[in-house]
Amino acid sequence: MSNNSTNAIIHHEHCKDIRNILIIEDSLSLVRTLKESIIDKLGIVSDIATHEVQAKELMEKTPYDLAIVDLNLPDSSGNFIGYLIRKKMGVIIITASNNDDVRKKLTSLPIIDYLYKTDKNSIVNYVIKSIQRLQKNKDAIVGICDDSKLIRRQIGQLLSHQNIQYVEFENEKVANEYIKEKKTIDLLITDINTPKMSGLDLIRKIRQEYSAEKLPILSFSSSGNPILVAQILKSGANDYLSKPTNNEEFLTRLNISLDNSRLHSANEELILKLQESSVKDFLTTLHNRNYFHSVVKQIQSQAQRENTNYGIIMIDIDFFKKVNDNYGHDVGDATIKEISNILKRSARNSDVVCRWGGEEFLILVPNTSMQELSNFANRIRKLVEQRDISTKDGLINFKVTISLGVALSNKTNVSNAENIINEADDRLYKAKNSGRNKVVYE
Ligand code: GH3
Ligand code: MG
Ligand code: MG
Repeated sequence: MSNNSTNAIIHHEHCKDIRNILIIEDSLSLVRTLKESIIDKLGIVSDIATHEVQAKELMEKTPYDLAIVDLNLPDSSGNFIGYLIRKKMGVIIITASNNDDVRKKLTSLPIIDYLYKTDKNSIVNYVIKSIQRLQKNKDAIVGICDDSKLIRRQIGQLLSHQNIQYVEFENEKVANEYIKEKKTIDLLITDINTPKMSGLDLIRKIRQEYSAEKLPILSFSSSGNPILVAQILKSGANDYLSKPTNNEEFLTRLNISLDNSRLHSANEELILKLQESSVKDFLTTLHNRNYFHSVVKQIQSQAQRENTNYGIIMIDIDFFKKVNDNYGHDVGDATIKEISNILKRSARNSDVVCRWGGEEFLILVPNTSMQELSNFANRIRKLVEQRDISTKDGLINFKVTISLGVALSNKTNVSNAENIINEADDRLYKAKNSGRNKVVYE
C-alpha cells in the first residue's frame, strides 16, 4: 500500500448479503423455532438439515451465505466445521459443551460467532441479532491503523468474518489524511504505539471534528500501564484493549461500539425527520404555518437592519369547491399539489412559500418592492391560469384560477407581520369580490 492516503483500498470482496441460510441442528423443536423466527423477523426462508450428510447434500445444490450449526450432530465426523469454512460460508456454531478447551478452539476458528446451548428463546434471540448485525455490517467500513502489516492483516481477517469492509492505514498520518479528506469510515481501530504515542495525537485530532458517536475509536496497545489506559480514554477513544488481543473480546467490543454508533445515527435521522415534518405540509411538502412563524422574526430584523421591505402574498384558489364537487377529492388534492409546484418553481430561494390553509397559500418575500411583488404575483397568476390540470385517467382537462392579495411592509408596521398579513388578506378578499383571477395591491 502506498503512503498516499487517497490510494487506500477499501476491502469489501468478502462482504455478502445474507440471503440463503442453512440450519444444521438435530433438535427438531429448536430448528423449527429458529426457522420460524428467521422468517418472521428477517423475511428469510432457511433450509434445514438434521445430519451432516443431509447438510452436505443441500450444499451441493445451493450456495449458502450462512450456516447455523450444532457442534454435536448425530453423525459428527469431526471435521465438518472445517468443511463449512472451506465452502466459504459464514458459520455460527451452537455448542452444548461449555468448557475452556472447546471455547479456545472455537475462538481460534474463522467463524462469525459461537453460542452456548441455553434455553431456546435466548438462542433464537441471539441468532436473529447476529444475522441482523451481519446484514448491517455489510455497509460499515472500519479503518485499521497499525504499522505492522501482520496485525493489520489479522484484524482485517477478523473483520471479514463479520461481513465488515475495512481499509488499512500504515501509520497515523495516513489515517488522519484519509479521514480529513472526508473519506468515510464508521469506526477506527488504532494502535497506540509506545513510546512515540502518536496514536494519541491522532485520536485528539479526530475528536476535534467527530464525536465519539459519529466515529468511534477502539485503541489497543502492548502496554498495560493503567496511566496510559486512562490517557487514551481521556484523549477520546471509546474503548481500549490490551495487546495481544483476545479475538472474542475484541469482536464483542467492536460490535458494541458499532451498535452504539448505529443507534446514534438512527436517532439523529429520526430527529431530523421529526423536525422536518413539524415545519412541512404533508400533501404539498411546502412549509407550514409553524415554519412561517419560526422565520418571520428573522426576516423582520433583516428588513429593519438593512432598511428594506418584505412582502406578503396571500393566494386562494378560485371556486375550488367546484373542483372537488365535479371531479372528486383526489383530483382536488392533485390540483393543490400542482399549484404548489408552480409556486415553488416561481419563487426565489429566499422566498418562504407556505401552505396557509386548505386551498390557501402565503408567500413571504424578503427585500422587495411593491413593483417587484405585483410582478411576481401576476406571473404566478398567469402560470396557474395557463396550466392544464387533468383527471387521473387523463380524460378530462380543466383549468383553475387563483386570486392574490399583496402587501408590503413599511417603517411603522415592519415588526408586525400580523398587520401585513391582514392587509394582504383584505386585498385578497377584494380580488375575490371584483371578479377573481386577479392581483390586488392597494
Ligand atoms: P372562492 O373562490 O371564494 O375561494 O371559492 P372556493 O370554493 O374556493 O372557496 P370555499 O372556501 O367555499 O371552498 C374551499 C374548499 O376547499 C372547501 C374544502 O372542502 C376544500 N378543501 C380544503 N382543503 C382541501 C384539501 O386539502 N383537499 C381538497 N381536495 N379539498 C380541500
Ligand atoms: Mg377558494
Ligand atoms: Mg379559501
